[in-house]
Amino acid sequence: MSLLFRDDPYLTSCQATVTAVGDGWVELDQTIFYPTSGGQPGDSGALRWGGSEVAIATAVKGEAPDQVRHVLPEGAAAPPVGTAVEAAIDWPRRHRHMRMHTSMHLLCSLVEGDVTGGQVGAEKSRLDFNLPTTSLDKEDLTERLNALVQADHPIAARWIDDAELQERPELVRTMSVKPPSGQGKVRLLLIGSDEAPVDLQPCGGTHVARTGEIGRLRVSKIENKGRQNRRVNIVLED
Ligand SMILES: [Zn+2]
Repeated sequence: MSLLFRDDPYLTSCQATVTAVGDGWVELDQTIFYPTSGGQPGDSGALRWGGSEVAIATAVKGEAPDQVRHVLPEGAAAPPVGTAVEAAIDWPRRHRHMRMHTSMHLLCSLVEGDVTGGQVGAEKSRLDFNLPTTSLDKEDLTERLNALVQADHPIAARWIDDAELQERPELVRTMSVKPPSGQGKVRLLLIGSDEAPVDLQPCGGTHVARTGEIGRLRVSKIENKGRQNRRVNIVLED
């Protein structure tokens, strides 16, 4: 299955053919639906064919690598295998996920320490850090995040070999999220330029094209989650 959102996260719909139908789900030959993973929620939307339409409640990973299951609402009838459909995502919701997800990378670049968990949402997002010594200030962090947004840094994906990643363990900040790999390659997300990266780490999520598109951010809360663990919560200001 082709995962079209990897090369173009701005696609809002695509043509596809139903390749499999299971208990409450549909698989397609290609899709723009991001499946729940890496702390980012799966896309919702709809499949349309002929005069028919069925809602898609969410998307999850299938059994095979790079397979996405489009999850139907309870009791909804699936289009039969072989049907040509138009797959459309709830774009306003996904775009907020893209803005929030990208802001998590910016946060990661400003806070030292290993990332131990995280969750992206359309309204708010959070990252958990192991912070042996550093203390964090809400206002200071908000200001520095918005400076990175206003600098309007470009964002691009890069693929490197598994071997190259093993030689650069400093790239992996997250202890809880495995980057998408397979066929010997890993997808990296670069914010900024190759010469002066703001953030560079393996990631298979969907991101905006420039940091300016995120808009104004606010650190809403910093919580103690243990002696060495801090949870940083972020909201979009619009
Ligand atoms: Zn990412």
